[in-house]
Amino acid sequence: MAAGLHDHHLYLSLLEEARYFQIPRLQSWLEGERYLEAVTVSLKTMVREMDGNLSAETSTLAGTTIKCFPSWGTKKVYICPRGTSGHRGRPDLCGRRCEQVRGDDSDPYEEELCLRIFTVSKSKLQARDLCSSSLRSPTEARYKV
Ligand SMILES: [Zn+2]
Repeated sequence: MAAGLHDHHLYLSLLEEARYFQIPRLQSWLEGERYLEAVTVSLKTMVREMDGNLSAETSTLAGTTIKCFPSWGTKKVYICPRGTSGHRGRPDLCGRRCEQVRGDDSDPYEEELCLRIFTVSKSKLQARDLCSSSLRSPTEARYKV
């Protein structure tokens, strides 16, 4: 494959040779473009908000490419009506005294900058069975261990 794509020129050349050398299984496999089914491309996207910790670690399969696209945005952050810093962003921590201060007003929020990372991971999965068993002669396939 060149640049992640199938090399159709190579497949056409192989098809000519399969016809010339009279290899019907290979000829059928190439004419049916079965090689298109042999590779599956998987794309996974994820948006992650960075919370001040700018380091991240991940592990992935070999052959997987990961691209990250950072962007700045804003998000709404809950503000405690009493101004308690420990309650910032955590309305569940506010208690009765906070609610008394808030009164009938709606929950106070303010916007703050946040860094978002848009991640795209791309991996190719090869169906090796499709490449080998469909080309194998019936006798070979029968005696496979
Ligand atoms: Zn509070």
